[in-house]
Amino acid sequence: MATLKVSSPTVQKDCTCSTADAIYLTGKSTCENLYNLSQTQATSKEDLLRAVLLFSCSTIDSVGKQLAKDCLKEVIDVDEGAQKIFEEHISRKIKQQPEKLLARALSNPDYRGELIKFVIESIDGTSLQSYQQISELTAKFGIVTDEIISQDKAKAVFDARQKIIHEMDIEVLAESGSRAQRRTRAENELKQLSEGILEAACKLIDNVHKKIHEPRAKDT
Ligand SMILES: [Zn+2]
Repeated sequence: MATLKVSSPTVQKDCTCSTADAIYLTGKSTCENLYNLSQTQATSKEDLLRAVLLFSCSTIDSVGKQLAKDCLKEVIDVDEGAQKIFEEHISRKIKQQPEKLLARALSNPDYRGELIKFVIESIDGTSLQSYQQISELTAKFGIVTDEIISQDKAKAVFDARQKIIHEMDIEVLAESGSRAQRRTRAENELKQLSEGILEAACKLIDNVHKKIHEPRAKDT
């Protein structure tokens, strides 16, 4: 029987990225179970495969937000690329809402920590469900997005996700239960897209972990 082919991150249990790792492993095993079930259920096969893709996409969303919460400060502390993006982000926000941001930072003894918290909140408020949003997140960690996922692959995944959600809305509206509007996707296509985005979540954890433990030497 075919199964999903997805890796697991190579992190240690006591690392700050271990909660994100646990979230990933739960998401991955949910997807694997749904996929395995799809292989034994002829009538609901496509529903299950669509669920696998939706779960895969929510996995990277949860993983990215958890990594931001637990690891962003640590990465900014050691990585020059992440520091630079942090500085740019804060400088842009200060231009947009100077009073709010400065008041918040200056009323806290740990003003730098408070500004990092501000960045984390902005990540938490978005959904990591497009290439653009994923690349904004990877930039904050000083990670090259292509090391996580290519633009083409991400676009294919999130376009399919959007269409599936749209089709589900149509189906809910259609009282007759007619499925005429649903596009039939090749099983393999759904499988590969799900594997691709889960793999991206795995690489995201591995890359953040590497940033913390193997920080790039500072230019002298
Ligand atoms: Zn780690």
